[in-house]
Amino acid sequence: MKQLESTSLVLLHHHLKALRLPTITAECEKLARQAAADNADHLTYLLQLTELELLERERKAAERRLKAAHFPTHKTLEGFDFAARPSVNKLLVCELARCEYIERRENVLFVGNPGTGKTHLATALGMAACGRGYRVRFFRLTELATLLMEARDERSLLGLKARLAKLDLLIVDELGYVPASKVGAELLFDVISSAYERTSLIVTTNLPFESWTEVLGSERLTGATLDRLTHRCQIIETKGESYRLRDAKAKLRTEGGGGRSSDRDRPRRNALEGGETSS
Ligand code: ADP
Ligand code: MG
Repeated sequence: MKQLESTSLVLLHHHLKALRLPTITAECEKLARQAAADNADHLTYLLQLTELELLERERKAAERRLKAAHFPTHKTLEGFDFAARPSVNKLLVCELARCEYIERRENVLFVGNPGTGKTHLATALGMAACGRGYRVRFFRLTELATLLMEARDERSLLGLKARLAKLDLLIVDELGYVPASKVGAELLFDVISSAYERTSLIVTTNLPFESWTEVLGSERLTGATLDRLTHRCQIIETKGESYRLRDAKAKLRTEGGGGRSSDRDRPRRNALEGGETSS
């Protein structure tokens, strides 16, 4: 009897491996003992096993999507202090996290000064989309422009564009820090045009629209890019001072409270209170 059982088990493991059901392979014996103890019928046992396999598959797929998205850091909406950024409508952002805009192929634009949470919010929305099964890719603008130019030089631009076209959500962070080259700007415009009404875009920028020409070069290209980007788009302004600066100031106030501040702190505090530095 024992001999027969172990032969069946070896065969079962072989079949499960051939069927690519690793979680069922790992859990079937433990769950069988549990089912026997609970007097559960065969169908209930099978249901439990298949549920475990599905859950594990979904977990691994979500992990793969998150990795493929290349987020610079992991940020969530729970970690965002909305009270500190009243210009950002919490209800709207929470609604965006439900990803219906992706189904409608709409865009989101975050506009605001450095340190005001644009990358945080864009990443959090991107991670929420990954969690819901959407294919997401995060790029800093300069990184995307370089990748496009390299692909063009290597004659692999079509392949890269085909990969971008498979995305549900493309995030382009930091439009405005470094002016793109003429070729880079044209390639970026091409990506934005191709995404238009097919892939949702999230773009973050510290530049008001009238200054986009400085980055994209020509007025014609800027006009056309803005036209496509802002058609069916939520524009969210992150007004106010930098969160990093606010944090640093609060820290200095606590450390400096009660007359304990040293001379060493003084120049830095003056610099912080003198206004915002760009990052
Ligand atoms: P930006 O992209 O606008 O320059 P970031 O999103 O990079 O700003 O924000 C700078 C840092 O401050 C990040 O570590 C971010 O997580 C944090 N941060 C910004 N705003 C908030 C906020 N309202 N609540 C919590 N953390 C914030
Ligand atoms: Mg940023």
